[in-house]
Formats: sequence, structure tokens, C-alpha cells
Amino acid sequence: MIQVAINGYGTIGKRVADAVRAQPDMEVLGVAKTRPNFEAETAIEKGFPLYAAIEEREHLFGEAGLDIAGSVDELVADADVVVDATPSGIGAENKSLYEEYETPALYQGGEDADLVDVSFNARSNFEEAAAADHVRVVSCNTTGLSRVIAPLREEYGVEKVRATLVRRGGDPGQTSRGPINDILPNPVTIPSHHGPDVETIFDDLDIDTLGMKVPATLMHMHSLNVTLEEEVDAADVRELFADESRLFLIPEHMAIDGSGKLKEYALDAGRPRGDVWENAIWEESISTVGRDLYLFQGIHQESDVVPENVDAIRAVLGEADAEESIETTDETLGIGL
Ligand code: NAD
Repeated sequence: MIQVAINGYGTIGKRVADAVRAQPDMEVLGVAKTRPNFEAETAIEKGFPLYAAIEEREHLFGEAGLDIAGSVDELVADADVVVDATPSGIGAENKSLYEEYETPALYQGGEDADLVDVSFNARSNFEEAAAADHVRVVSCNTTGLSRVIAPLREEYGVEKVRATLVRRGGDPGQTSRGPINDILPNPVTIPSHHGPDVETIFDDLDIDTLGMKVPATLMHMHSLNVTLEEEVDAADVRELFADESRLFLIPEHMAIDGSGKLKEYALDAGRPRGDVWENAIWEESISTVGRDLYLFQGIHQESDVVPENVDAIRAVLGEADAEESIETTDETLGIGL
């Protein structure tokens, strides 16, 4: 069994821990936290050994009645791989810790691409992560764009991508985020950082992205225009996407008219935390005009990178090829709405 350490047990970390636990070939060695909040409490309830991420704060856990299994150093030393799911920029600070114990590390999309050897998306460049010591699982938006672009490139060739990303202001638990009643060009400069980030996956791709922020917490929404290298029928693109396990085509008859109903559907379907691991593409929106393809897709920021982290673990350790890993992850999590 692959022993996985998870450093940072927040929005992404707790989901990755549950996903790792569901795999037949890996287990959660422990999770590290900085403070004894509600997530620390549930980690213990779920039976994940809890480690103190910051030595000076270890006493806070004891005071809150939570048992600590050890320090983050011990956790990292004993693990085969560590998933760093700390807030943006903290992963970079933790790099030397992982190097000290020679434990391969996966970082999240909030870290800079130049921190790592490889930026990763399972569908697009799984093999590039083999034996890498530092791998970045790209952000929710970059993951969502990459999953669509990879099959289009393989099948038709892509001349140009233009994407407008309408981004949720914060996650449901991020009470400090905004806007509360506004629509922000964000960043106001063009292109947004998302396009260059997608180029860390496809280095020869021509892509421009524009970002906005809106007062929503449920999901991001992408409005996508891809100029293909050949004229294609929309029906063919729908068929191509239907074969991709991490693309969910929302059928018209479901009457899912926005991210609220999409989340409601995920909850009704029994998804943990109402997670939508797949890109949710409105099937009727898939349209072509000559070589131009258009579509709308919903991206659940809190969960689409979770299966990617699981695959990245197998990729860096050389435990499976892309197809095997994606299949195992999809099957165990129940991906494919
Ligand atoms: P979060 O704030 O929900 O969770 C981070 C956790 O790390 C918190 O529990 C925090 O207490 C803990 N932490 C802080 N400092 C630490 C340290 N020094 N050592 C160990 N733990 C520490 O953040 P998140 O949303 O899970 O984001 C984590 C990473 O994932 C970021 O790089 C982010 O950009 C990326 N990401 C976030 C989303 C999203 O929408 N939430 C989507 C994709 C990628």
C-alpha cells in the first residue's frame, strides 16, 4: 500500500484524504493541521492520524482534547508521498521539508509553476510526472480547461482557445471573501493567469483567458470558444466528450439550468459534500460555427482536482499508467454522473 501523507487538511486536503482512503492501493498515513478546528475534529472522528503542522502550536491540540500522533516531520519522513494542500504560497515554504526527507511531493494550483518539475493533469500529461520529486496538480480552472482541450487537440487539432472564466468569489466556507454585491473584472488585465497556466500543461497551445469574479460560492462557469483546425459537427464533439469519463454532459431533459441545481443533483445522487468531480458541460451549449466550437461548463472548484491528486500519486511513484490509474480512481470514487 502506498503510504500517503496529507499536509494541510482544508477544502482540498480533506477531500483528497477521503479519496485516497477509497483507493485499493493506497492509505492515509496521516494528516497534518495547524490548529484544532472543526476539520481537525472530523479528521480524528474519521480515524485519520492527526499530526501537528507547526511544532509551537502542538499544545493547542492537547488543550482541545485532540490526540496528536506526532509532528509533521515524522509524518513526511515515514510517507511514500506527501500531498501538500496548504494555502497558496505555503507549499513553497514546505518544499525544503519534503526535500530533507526525500519524500516526493504534490502541490496544488495555488503554487507557482516554477516551484515544481512538472505541472500535472491526468488526462493530458500523466507520464511526464513519472519519478518527478515535485509535481503541481494544476488549479480547478486549469484542470477544467485541460480536460476539454486534450481530446479536442488529439481528435481535431486546436488553433486557438478563448475562454472567459466567471469565477466564484469564494468557497462556501470562506467567509472573508467577496464580492458581496458586485461583478469584478478579475484580474482586470488580460490575459488572466489561467491561460499561461494551461500552457504549463500544453506548452504549444495558443490560449487567451479573461477572468471575472461574481458573488457566488457554488462553482465557476467557463464560456469557451475553441477554434479547431478543421470544421466539425457539434454532434461529433458531443460524441467525443461523451467518451471522456471526467466530462459530464448535462442532458437537456434534466432541466439543470445553473450551478445551484447541479449541486442539488450531486447531493441527490449521494455525492460526498455534493462534490462534482467532472467538468459539467451543458450539452445544448456545444455548438459549432465553421471551425469555431462554443460551450458553457461548470467547474466545481472544491473537488475537480481531487481525482487528479489521486492519479498524480500513482504517476510520480510509477504505480500505474494513465488509463489504469484514471479507471481505478473513477471507479472507486464513483465518477461518471
Ligand atoms: P484551505 O484554506 O481550505 O485549506 C488549507 C489548510 O491548510 C487549512 O486547514 C489551513 O489551516 C492549513 N494550513 C495553513 N498553513 C499550514 C501549514 N504551514 N502547514 C500545514 N497546514 C497548513 O485552502 P484550500 O482551498 O484547500 O487550498 C489549498 C490549495 O489548493 C491552494 O494552493 C489552492 O490554491 C488550491 N486549490 C484550491 C481550490 C479551491 O477552490 N478551494 C481549488 C483548486 C486548488
